Amino acid sequence: MIVDCHVHVNNYHEDAVETLAGCLDQLNRAMRVNRVDLAVILTSYMVTPGRPALSQVVAATRPFPHLSVVAGLSYHSFEPEHLVPIADYVAEGKVRGLKLYPGYQPFYPSDPKWQPAYAFAAEHGIPVMIHSGDTYAPSGKLKYAHPLHIDEVAVDHPDVKFVICHMGNPWIRDCMEVVYKNANVYVDISGLVLGSFSDRFEIYMRKQLQEMLLYGVEPDKVLYGTDWPISAMESYLTFMRELATPEREKKKIMADNALALYGLDPRNSLITGRK
Ligand SMILES: [Zn+2]
Repeated sequence: MIVDCHVHVNNYHEDAVETLAGCLDQLNRAMRVNRVDLAVILTSYMVTPGRPALSQVVAATRPFPHLSVVAGLSYHSFEPEHLVPIADYVAEGKVRGLKLYPGYQPFYPSDPKWQPAYAFAAEHGIPVMIHSGDTYAPSGKLKYAHPLHIDEVAVDHPDVKFVICHMGNPWIRDCMEVVYKNANVYVDISGLVLGSFSDRFEIYMRKQLQEMLLYGVEPDKVLYGTDWPISAMESYLTFMRELATPEREKKKIMADNALALYGLDPRNSLITGRK
């Protein structure tokens, strides 16, 4: 079983804006071709013609039980009332987490503005995913996206599970320490490359992930994710296939950890599910 815990249905090229339905078609096609059972779609911190709102993504994915949603929040416009409709989506089982985008937006995860969001995550038992490391856009401000800042919220909110996205790349060592030290911090391996890995970069990145596991990061806290469509699913599967780690650990990374963390039902698999 394969669970991709980090995909998007945003348009990243303004030239030809694909509709949400078109993006979902492409996602379903990519999942079928690559035999990916379940995926978690992260909504953006902004709503534009190319970046659908949470309500739109929730509505459009209702016919697809293999797709779950994580609600992206915007630092600039966030109000605690925004959590009210999200509570309904969580109760429905569609929304499975929250996502913050430090770096893309100028704030630290410990900003007091997010206290209601962390309280909400604790109350509903859903994880908070936090962008970390390089920003796809040069307009991002990197100091906010350093994984070390996630240590503070992890300590202050022991009842919330956090996911450091992208292994904090390139601050992978800092990321591994924050995950190693805090029982409530996970890491996803998404978005390490634009498109497909070159041979040399694939070896380089795989070595870093292996180093993380060697250092003592439990394989139970590492999540498979791609950042599709930014990174290619096929290339990521090759990256994982050749990871020098026992099969039982790989199985946890590829599926079991995400099933448990997001509360996903394997019977909703696109590949083997009912229908
Ligand atoms: Zn992403």
